[in-house]
Amino acid sequence: MNWIIDANPCPGVFYGTPAQDGFLLRIRTPGGQLTLSQGRAIARWMEAWGCDRLQVTNRGNLQLRSLGQAPSPEIFTELKTLGLASPIPQVDQLRNIMASPTAGIDPQELLDTRPWVQALDEFIQQQRQLEALPAKFSIGIDGGGSVAIGTRSPLSWEHRYNEIQLSVVASDGANDSENDGANEDSSVMVHLALGAGKQLHDTGRLIPPDKVVEAVAALTQAYLDYLRHAEPLPKPGRKRRMTHLLADWGLEQYLDQATHYQPQAFLRGKPPSLTPSAGAAHLGVHRQRQPGFAYIGVDLPLGQLTLAQVQGLLELVAQVGSGPLRLTPWQSLIVANIPETQVESVLQQLQELGLSGDVSPLAIAACTGKPGCSAATTATQTDARRLLAELPQQIGVETLETPINIHLTACPKSCAQPSPAEITLLGTADETYHLYLGDGQDSWTYDLGSVAVGDLSLVLGRVLTRYQQHRRASEESFTAWVRRSQQAGVRLQEWQR
Ligand code: SF4
Repeated sequence: MNWIIDANPCPGVFYGTPAQDGFLLRIRTPGGQLTLSQGRAIARWMEAWGCDRLQVTNRGNLQLRSLGQAPSPEIFTELKTLGLASPIPQVDQLRNIMASPTAGIDPQELLDTRPWVQALDEFIQQQRQLEALPAKFSIGIDGGGSVAIGTRSPLSWEHRYNEIQLSVVASDGANDSENDGANEDSSVMVHLALGAGKQLHDTGRLIPPDKVVEAVAALTQAYLDYLRHAEPLPKPGRKRRMTHLLADWGLEQYLDQATHYQPQAFLRGKPPSLTPSAGAAHLGVHRQRQPGFAYIGVDLPLGQLTLAQVQGLLELVAQVGSGPLRLTPWQSLIVANIPETQVESVLQQLQELGLSGDVSPLAIAACTGKPGCSAATTATQTDARRLLAELPQQIGVETLETPINIHLTACPKSCAQPSPAEITLLGTADETYHLYLGDGQDSWTYDLGSVAVGDLSLVLGRVLTRYQQHRRASEESFTAWVRRSQQAGVRLQEWQR
């Protein structure tokens, strides 16, 4: 095989991650933006490799599976030319920069974050020294608009955690600082949080908008300083992460070290109250900030697109002149810049491709499972597809105003969904699933016992029908209803029967 570098714990593009059904390749698309020429090249390679579908991941990356061979050297060169692979292969393993997928088109955003995505991606791609960072080093950028990256969504399963979380906030001018005179006239600032242990930790620091790249450079430099002096982890190939850094150094020592490199980039400021976003805000038809234009958020069941759908979407985008496809961290995509007069026709064409601009009542996420992952106990993708087909027949989904989140995972690692799930199905060794309900903070709070694969839709149908009948009002979320029922002394295990 012509792989360029050795495999990493996280999939990438320069090394194939071996799976039971061939190799898995992950292509980074910074900020989830996929241009027409990038999309066309990927469709061409899929055709050449006999790859009939791709998957949008929960970081807005693209994944190709079941590959029998490494891409040719010419394809690696083309990937780099198209901006789909790093010029320095050793840093390509670092995670995709996650950003609001509606950046630049959202009427409510405080700032268009796309220039930062580009500048930060360029910074990372040029720094060979960053290969020392763990593959899970990640940056999230929230423009403060209607579609939130971070924890602004009222649906905790939509939350996304990045080791460095930058959120644009309205500036109230109440920042201290030790840095007199720095950017006093800015109407927005950038709030810094650090992601570790599946939560975001407020740093009490604000970054002036014109210092974002310098601030991230300083944070990575201080991270590298920590890694240089920390004991290596006992497991070969694993690197210390932000969670270790914060445990060993603490927040303030880390921030002091970063501030040492860029004193003007970090201002002390009171934590902003981040404006909540709406749930599932990225789906459906929405007006853009550009008058006369709209965007459509398209739900992709399990994040998957067939080759024919990819080709059809690219044709549609070319015909409407709608710029890049935008991949979201919720395994969906956005077609943007559609003249409002053409929205109906685009919806029709999406339907002809088997895609929908409606908000799906079931937000199902499933990890690779069997046969793709060697750690898997169950065929999560197959079982999730069956649930998607059967569950709507068990329940009247039209009464579910807010999508219900179901996460199928074939081991506790939970690759498909880092955030707390409403309903979790954990595959077990005997090819059954263990059913858990979450409390909004944790996926595993209420243990409802084992369910045979063949009974999944029946049992979940019972639980969801009960929810539809007993919730207080349509606004009571599934999780809130579960919590209320448990506090009222209901034996949740009986919901299985
Ligand atoms: S959650 Fe476990 S079984 Fe599923 S893809 Fe990740 S490692 Fe494999």
